[in-house]
Parts: sequence; C-alpha cells; structure tokens
Amino acid sequence: MGANLNNPVPLLDVNRGNAPLLPEILERITGIVESGRFIGGPYCQELETLIAEHCDAEFGVGCASGSDALLLALMAIDLQPGDEVIVPSFTFFASASAISRLGGKPVFVDIDPGTFNLDAQLIEGLITPRTKAIMPVHLFGQCADMTTISTIAKKHGLHVVEDMAQAIGASFNGQQAGGIGDIGCISFYPTKNLGGFGDGGMVTTNNPALADRIRLLANHGMRPRYYHQEVGVNSRLDSMQAAILGVKARQIGHYGNKRAKNAELYRELMTASGLAEIMTLPTTDERCGHVWNQFTVRIPNGQRDDIRAHLTERGIGSEIYYPVPVHRQECYQYLGYAEGSLPETEKAAGQVLSLPIFPELTALEIETVVTCLAEALGCSVPLKQSA
Ligand SMILES: *Cc1c(COP(=O)(O)O)cnc(C)c1O
Repeated sequence: MGANLNNPVPLLDVNRGNAPLLPEILERITGIVESGRFIGGPYCQELETLIAEHCDAEFGVGCASGSDALLLALMAIDLQPGDEVIVPSFTFFASASAISRLGGKPVFVDIDPGTFNLDAQLIEGLITPRTKAIMPVHLFGQCADMTTISTIAKKHGLHVVEDMAQAIGASFNGQQAGGIGDIGCISFYPTKNLGGFGDGGMVTTNNPALADRIRLLANHGMRPRYYHQEVGVNSRLDSMQAAILGVKARQIGHYGNKRAKNAELYRELMTASGLAEIMTLPTTDERCGHVWNQFTVRIPNGQRDDIRAHLTERGIGSEIYYPVPVHRQECYQYLGYAEGSLPETEKAAGQVLSLPIFPELTALEIETVVTCLAEALGCSVPLKQSA
C-alpha cells in the first residue's frame, strides 16, 4: 500500500492549479493596475469570446457572479411576478433564489437518484398556464437530460435556462452545455471548474436579442450613458477577474480530463476494495461529457455523518452538497412543501458525500482517501497493490 494515512488531503487546493499560471496572471494584473482601468476592457472581451466558443454559443456576456447570471437570464426572458419556473430542489440555493428575487415561483422537481439531476420524466406533470421556463441544473459537472427537456420546452413554448455553474465544458449528446438551452449561466466562484480569484459569472446564448438585453440589464439598463431604458442591475465582470480567468480558461479541457481521470481511479480503487458494494458510486449518463466538478458518493444507513467525521479526523476534506434541499429551507416554507414531498431529493440529502477530485490531486492522495473510507466503513477487502 502506497497510501500515507498521515498526510492530509484537502477537498480543494486552488494554489496547486494556480501556481504554474501565476507569472502570466501577475503580469496581466500589473498591466491592469498600471492602466488604471478596472471595469470592462480587452480582457473582458477576450474571456467572453473564449467562453462563448467553449459553450458553442454565439454570445457570452460577463457579469458579477453565477447567481447574477441566473437573475439576468430570468430578467431577460421577462419573468413576471407569479410566473413559475420548474427547477430541481437538489441544487445550490441560488438556482431557486433568482426566481424568487423577481417575484416568480420556484416549482421544485424531484431528481433521478442515479445522476442527482432533475428527473425529466416528471417535468410535464408540473407544467401549468403560469409556467414560463425550465431551469435544469447540471449538477456536479454532469448535464441534465437536455434532449428530453428541450423537447418538452418546445412543445409547451417554455424557455430553458441552464444553470451550468458546476458544468463549464460539459456536453450532452455532443452539444456543449450553455449552447443547448436558450441561456446558459456560468459561475467563476473559486470552487468551480474554472475558478477566479473572487466572484464572477457569465451568461451564454445563441440569441442576439437576449444577449443584447442581458448586456443592457447588467449595466443598469443604461444606454447611452446616463440614459436608462429599463431598470437593470449593477453586475459587471471586473477586468482583473477577466484577466485571470482568461489565462485559466485555456486549461478548461485539461482540468476536465484530469478530474475525469481522478474519478476513474476512485472507481477502480473503490471497486477493488469492496467499497463499491457498500457505498453507491456516482452514475454517469452515457450521453454526457462529464467534467466532474464533484465526485459524490452515497453512504447508506444513516452512516454518512459518522464516516465524514472519521475522514475529518484523518485530515481528509469532504463536503455535503447539499444537506438541506432548497424546498425544505426555512425561507421557502411558505411554498408549502412538506417533508417527503420530494422523496429522492430528501433521501440524497441524507446520504451524499463529496470527496476531493480537483485536477492536481495525486494518485497517492486518492488512495489515501479510499483507504480511510474503507477503514471507516469496516471494509475487509484490502486495497490491491497500487501500480
Ligand atoms: C455556485 C453555484 C451558483 C452560484 O454561483 P455564484 O458565482 O457563487 O453566485 C448557482 N448554481 C449552482 C448550481 C452553483 O453551484
């Protein structure tokens, strides 16, 4: 066994990924400081072009965060108070809060227990005359069933807003996330596959009118300067973030491949150790190019929290995404979703555990994580000798 149980393994170490790029990043930052121009500029345009290309979308519009990207997308499709948007509850809060911020009503859909993504078969049963859009969330780096979602949306005249905060670079049936629905919403929060040195986001679309409106809305609805066509928000991507992300964006494919390799090694070791029979490993939809923002296992029988405590004691990072589903959050009690109303979502919330998977993680670290898990779960089968 090569695993060293005394070495801590962080959930994420952004410095490892940033280190080789730092000279170029710092040179860019110095240039911006010297120019004195901190908003907009050529790096923003460069990033918008790069990301749009990556999403096979015609337009990219930078904004201040992934949460704002979702808000701007819903503003651009004219979401009105009382309008409904079908969205999973097993997601980060921001997917739903963007709907509520505009007076809309999130209508929560349960998930497919295998992929953790919304169960597209349940969508049609939730459509009402007030339904305006479907917001699939490509959770943990894997696309929701965009073929079925697009078909339903077309049939009922609904917009599709992809929450792809965790899935930049992912694809479905050969199409890139962000270019499949009407609008794609990206986050550059540091834990995402393309993470900045702070907050940032982007909206992608193939629709020139939507792209133009989002650009207008993100800058106070102002055009020309100090003439406000509509009530927008202040949500701009700053020059420094764009400059940093522009350097890192060239690595998106590389990052996705490294994450996929790590997932493969986890699968191999967990199968060899017998862990795969005790825990449930993540399921990959064959139609999806998965970019593995998270490697999320299920630990059954109420053991999850004890196992996590054991990992923490061993210095192994892990996280629960997400412990309380959105429909059970205090602020959404007014919507009236009782306990048990979304059974697969609630079951997942009690079982999931995300393990370190960042691109620069070493094989030895993955072995350490698996060994500690096997130890915690009392797994008797020894790990095979590592190559
Ligand atoms: C991170 C995230 C967001 C929000 O992005 P921010 O840039 O943090 O505002 C939205 N949806 C999902 C699924 C996310 O993971």
